[in-house]
Amino acid sequence: MNPITHFLVGWTALERLLPSRRDKALVCFSGLAPDLDGLGIVVDAFTRVAGLSETDLYQQFHRVYGHGLPAAWVIAIAVALCARLRTRTALWSLVAVHLHFVCDLLGSRGSTPEDIWPIYYLAPISMHPQWSLSFQWPLVGWQNLVISALLMLIAMERATRTGYAPVVVFSARADAVFVGVLRGWRASLRRLFRRSP
Ligand SMILES: [Zn+2]
Repeated sequence: MNPITHFLVGWTALERLLPSRRDKALVCFSGLAPDLDGLGIVVDAFTRVAGLSETDLYQQFHRVYGHGLPAAWVIAIAVALCARLRTRTALWSLVAVHLHFVCDLLGSRGSTPEDIWPIYYLAPISMHPQWSLSFQWPLVGWQNLVISALLMLIAMERATRTGYAPVVVFSARADAVFVGVLRGWRASLRRLFRRSP
C-alpha cells in the first residue's frame, strides 16, 4: 500500500496506546519505515535521466531489506533508543511494522494478476519463508483508495472528540488549527441535520 495508507493504519490502530506525541510519531513512522528499502528508485531514475550506467536498486533492494523480521527488529531498536516509554513503544513499533507487511500482502500487486509481491519474512538473511496472497489487489486499485478514505474519515471523526489529529506528529500548533476546522465542520453538519425534517 502507499505511505499515507500505512501511516493511517498505524495511527488508527496504535496511537491511542501511547500517551506522548513523540512515541505516537515513532510508532506511526515505524509503519512507513519498511518502504525505505524502495528509495533506490530515486537513484534509478537519476541514472536513467542523467544518462549514466543504469542501476536497478529498486528491484534489488525493495521487499528484501525492509520487509522482514530482521528489519522489524532494527526499526524497533532504533525506536526504543528515541522513545520516552522505550519498551512499550518498541513493542508497538514491531506491531506497526507487521501491520505494514499485512497491508502489503493484501494490496500491493502490480498491473497484472501474476505480478504478485511476496513477503520474504527472514530476508535478507534467507529468502525463505516466502509468503503471498493469490487475491492480492493492485497497489493502485480502488480497494486501497477506499481503505485510505475510510481511515481518513475515522481519524477526522476521532479528532473532533479527542482534540488531536494525525497532524500532531508533525506540529502541535498546526494540529490545533486543523482540529478547530474539523470541529467547525462537525457543528455545521449537526445544525444541518437538526434543521432538515
Ligand atoms: Zn512496503
